[in-house]
Amino acid sequence: MTRLSRSSDLSVRRPAARLRDAALATRKRAVFFDRDGTLNEEIGHVRDAADFRVYSFAAQAVRLVNEAGLRAIVVTNQSGVGRGLIPESLVRRVNRQLTRQIAAGGGRLDAIYYCPHHPEASVERFRMVCGCRKPASGLLETAAREFGVDLAQSFMVGDRFVDMLAGRSVGARSVLVLTGVGPRELEDGKNSGTTQPDHIAEDAYKAVQWILANL
Ligand SMILES: [Mg+2]
Ligand SMILES: [Zn+2]
Repeated sequence: MTRLSRSSDLSVRRPAARLRDAALATRKRAVFFDRDGTLNEEIGHVRDAADFRVYSFAAQAVRLVNEAGLRAIVVTNQSGVGRGLIPESLVRRVNRQLTRQIAAGGGRLDAIYYCPHHPEASVERFRMVCGCRKPASGLLETAAREFGVDLAQSFMVGDRFVDMLAGRSVGARSVLVLTGVGPRELEDGKNSGTTQPDHIAEDAYKAVQWILANL
């Protein structure tokens, strides 16, 4: 191929390249979702996969994120593993169930990250002050490394203030949802003056609508 034909190819491809660059820029952003109380009913530690109920709006919320070209990533504290209440295999099984049910509703989760640790865990190998139990930011940082996500351009959606704090600590914007323990957390947060979220939404679907309107 001659230099001339290469340069002519380049000029033809420039608009496509710009589109591709724009697409890559949105792929560097993520919406991080908490799991329990945000995408599925909060029932405490999920001890039986049969009790796991995905909210009706969850798949649509994830689908909106997919369509906007952002990553959709779940970050969840699962200290029940460290506390010896549930085997790690059950967390993985329930996570697969979530991924499948979201997929059945037309949404695609890019990944699910979980923290099995607790400072007072009964299972010794999980007993530690780790860097991944929210409000720590380890799960978000690991996801950011693995997916090339720009955390400062990303969002955290959850029903607890630990979710808001995890998002804040990496420079992401945070949305509190009023499902799960959200209403109680909001009340407690107001009383104690805890860091407020950037936005409060009825549920994860409304949260995503707000996020996409505020990119
Ligand atoms: Mg939660
Ligand atoms: Zn951890």
